[in-house]
Amino acid sequence: MPELRRDPVVGRWVIIAVERAKRPQDVAPIENAHTTAEGERNCPFCPGREDQTPPEIMAYRPAESPPNSPDWTVRVVPNKYPALQIEGELDARAEGIYDRMNGIGAHEVIIETPDHNATLATMPLQQLEAMLHAFVDRAADLEKDTRFKYIQIFKNVGEAAGASLEHPHCQLIATPVVPKRIAEELAGGLAHFGYKQRCIFCDTLRQEYDDGARLVFADDLIVSFVPYASRFPFEIQVMPRRHVSSFKNVAEEEVKHLANHIKLVMGKVDGVLRTPPYNLVLHTAPCGMDELEHYHWHIEIIPKLAKVAGFEWGTGFYINPTVPEQVAECLRTHRTD
Ligand SMILES: [Zn+2]
Ligand SMILES: [Zn+2]
Ligand SMILES: [Zn+2]
Repeated sequence: MPELRRDPVVGRWVIIAVERAKRPQDVAPIENAHTTAEGERNCPFCPGREDQTPPEIMAYRPAESPPNSPDWTVRVVPNKYPALQIEGELDARAEGIYDRMNGIGAHEVIIETPDHNATLATMPLQQLEAMLHAFVDRAADLEKDTRFKYIQIFKNVGEAAGASLEHPHCQLIATPVVPKRIAEELAGGLAHFGYKQRCIFCDTLRQEYDDGARLVFADDLIVSFVPYASRFPFEIQVMPRRHVSSFKNVAEEEVKHLANHIKLVMGKVDGVLRTPPYNLVLHTAPCGMDELEHYHWHIEIIPKLAKVAGFEWGTGFYINPTVPEQVAECLRTHRTD
């Protein structure tokens, strides 16, 4: 019989097709997210084409190297087609029962590496660490702007996951409201804390670490696991074992371990699923809320393997055609070297 599982944070139910479940290794991606010669030829993010992006906001480069020249290791530029605009005052008002505000925000592109053909799995660890440092630096800078309530860092890889450019990059959008997904996680965390006086994420981590059935990889600082109520095949969460609500307060040792986790986990995902399109999102505390007892930063990795259909749209229930424990075992035993 299929099984219903409930996500302990947001209370979302998922249908796990236990008996009819596909073997994890039989799940096929919608497409393979490979780079192409044409993509590289026309790439505005490759070194030497710095004039094809808006002027950089920040870059890691040698002291003598001028802005917007090559020689960078990570480069952050404004999005050429921003979803939200940086200039202006926030103006929020009601329109009868409706609410509106002007589209103030920041939309930046974090170019992770000069190497067009690198992936999170193939990048050197140092490069991944530099990318993570850029997340911290940009978040810390943007949080000073009191118009922003949340900073969402995310990555789309492959057309099916919403990427329009191949070159390895993440995006950052600072929003003038706390997004609904985050508000739901905060509310779930607060409710759990309200009657247990413990962080739901810390509790989850402890259980996953002790149980082991859904672990992908764990070390003394970070745990990567397949969530109990995964919505999608090969959904993975990566979390620090230390309770920290805001990613910008990540410790240097944690950055090193996190880089290792991302490389290893993505190596397994790319190996098993043959370089699928995927989204990666960083969930962190809203701006100005650095020390929440009930929230815990984490990364969610979601390979794009199936389209979201009518039942999901209609109900918010998801049907997962794989069993999380089997997915975890498949990833755990897949060797990347
Ligand atoms: Zn490129
Ligand atoms: Zn916690
Ligand atoms: Zn989350």
